[in-house]
Amino acid sequence: MDTSDWVYRGEGNSSLVIANTKTNRVFKLRKKKIVKCDSKNPKSSDSEGKLQMCRRLLQYSEGVLRPLLGEEVVPIAEIVPVSVDFLKGISKKVRKLRPAKRLDTEVDEESEYGISLPDLCSVQPFDRNNTNPVFCVEIKPKMGFLPDCKPISEERSIKRNACKFCMYQKLKLEFGTWDSASLYCPIDLFSGNEERMMCALSCLVKTPQNNLRIFMNGQLIFSNNGRHSPTLQDRQQLTDLLKSQFGSSSENKDGHNSLNHSCLLDFLHLIQKVLVATEGNNEVKRPQTTNQCLESQYKPSGADMVNNSLPPGCILDRILNVQRLDDLDIEGIYPLYQQLQEHISQHPEDREKYSLEGPFNEHFIDQLPMMTQVTRNHSTKETIDYAVQKIREFLIAATTKDCSIMVTMQRTTNAKVEDASQHISSGNGNFFKYHCNIVDLDPKPSIRIPMYYQLDHDITQHYKKYLEQKNLES
Ligand code: ATP
Ligand code: ZN
Ligand code: MG
Repeated sequence: MDTSDWVYRGEGNSSLVIANTKTNRVFKLRKKKIVKCDSKNPKSSDSEGKLQMCRRLLQYSEGVLRPLLGEEVVPIAEIVPVSVDFLKGISKKVRKLRPAKRLDTEVDEESEYGISLPDLCSVQPFDRNNTNPVFCVEIKPKMGFLPDCKPISEERSIKRNACKFCMYQKLKLEFGTWDSASLYCPIDLFSGNEERMMCALSCLVKTPQNNLRIFMNGQLIFSNNGRHSPTLQDRQQLTDLLKSQFGSSSENKDGHNSLNHSCLLDFLHLIQKVLVATEGNNEVKRPQTTNQCLESQYKPSGADMVNNSLPPGCILDRILNVQRLDDLDIEGIYPLYQQLQEHISQHPEDREKYSLEGPFNEHFIDQLPMMTQVTRNHSTKETIDYAVQKIREFLIAATTKDCSIMVTMQRTTNAKVEDASQHISSGNGNFFKYHCNIVDLDPKPSIRIPMYYQLDHDITQHYKKYLEQKNLES
């Protein structure tokens, strides 16, 4: 396989993604840590083992998460064999384009298999007559609710009022991960309230960290600059690129700056609309919440707090519902995890039956709908079955607290609107074809549970100290 049609797209902790400019598909390639001696990387398995590992990933995202999130929003992936030569070629080709903070990892040239997915930076099906640029907005929304359940201890009860993402920001400042705290609050994005969501989206533009990335025709045009937030100039550059497609040209008379401003707002408004869009009319109403995180930048203006729920079936609602499978919080899960470890050490024969790491086969999936039955019945609460179900639910929720939404949009002429794909109109009457997908649905290993429990302690206690300090100063 030739590397010439492939370009670098992006990467996360565990994979590097390349896009094919001809086929509108991407490859997700496995990465490994660069270490002097190889002992830190898990022993590389044989071909069959590597194939099994890829299958496990797909089973999880397609067998477990897809039914929970919805078929329309989780793209179908394929496993493809890739040669060492191809991977070496790619590795060399992308070297200069990779962000500095990721250079402690590299493409695993021995991985043998990659995962092929539709390129979500392009509109599918491809329309050769539409030459308008395709914009793709990638949002990592993180955890969208404030936990409120019994197991939360007095010591950590601050979680009920400040969200994990915002509290974690204070600790990350200490670590020096980013040079400034994010202004974004997930609770605002998931609120369903238009103004609050717009506030959250503007905050993402000011401080994107790794929660916002914008692509135009597959090229990254806006993101954090390493540890630094975008400058005014970066934002100006973004608005310049948006200008031809968003905002109204009739506003020209208001001067250059307000035009720029209006096109960014117009763009964010479209994203907001896509995030709450539903197909058909939904009668079900979710309970309204007025919950707001202590760190939110949003200042309610009068009657504005009324409409505070996500339309059922919209992309954010789908994600939030799966996140809410975590209804015991890590404080409720950790003791169950210990109980399970204890059980397995006494009954090693049960290790497979109660496996948390898959295989995510039919047997595993068959058990999922039983979850609510097992977990609602009070008499079963002491059983290992109950513990396993709750831990599985928690891990599934953890995946969706870390996934990304990819919103793809292309302006189209009104005449084309009758085709089957989804459309949305901007404030000034332009039509956009769009689609919305969820990516990065990898399983979270259960051995991280003790670490999550410790981190939860560190985040809450550090944040409490921060609040005390703040109160002293004011
Ligand atoms: P993380 O560290 O968040 O777990 P990861 O290593 O699992 O990430 P992904 O998030 O799946 O990797 O992919 C890395 C990047 O590649 C994404 O942030 C996105 O920009 C891009 N990407 C992933 N899948 C697609 C796709 N189907 N189409 C276009 N771009 C994609
Ligand atoms: Zn918050
Ligand atoms: Mg991942």
